[in-house]
Order: sequence, then C-alpha cells, then structure tokens
Amino acid sequence: MFVSLSELILIPMLFHLLVILVCWLYYLAREGAPQLAPTRNRIYRCQVCEHVYLDARDVPLARCPRCGCLNEAVKT
Ligand SMILES: [Zn+2]
Repeated sequence: MFVSLSELILIPMLFHLLVILVCWLYYLAREGAPQLAPTRNRIYRCQVCEHVYLDARDVPLARCPRCGCLNEAVKT
C-alpha cells in the first residue's frame, strides 16, 4: 500500500483536529455559556483627577485611591 506524503501529514492532522473538536464540544456542553457573576461594587469617578474606581462598601461617598477626594457613586 502506497501512502503519499500529503496523506501522511493530512490524516494525523485531521485526526487531531477531530479530537480538539470533540473536547471543545464536551466542555461547551458541560459548562454552558460563561456567565458574569453579579457584583455589589459601586462605580465611582473622581471629580478631581477623573480616576474611575470600584468600592464594594455600601457608602454614599467613597475616597479616591489616587488623590483622596470624596466622590458620589456613578452607578450602583
Ligand atoms: Zn481622584
């Protein structure tokens, strides 16, 4: 039986691609679509230095980590 050089490369490559496809479908079916966990962090934008930061504490004013100015939450 004569096997050409292109078949010698193509057949193992297709086999490995099939293995990767099966693994991909397996993990996709097992975990489903990735979902973002909801966070309780509030988003703050500093009025002085325009630095955007998060704070998980439930406070009306949070101190900017860059300049120390107090800012109100932009989004809860
Ligand atoms: Zn600031």
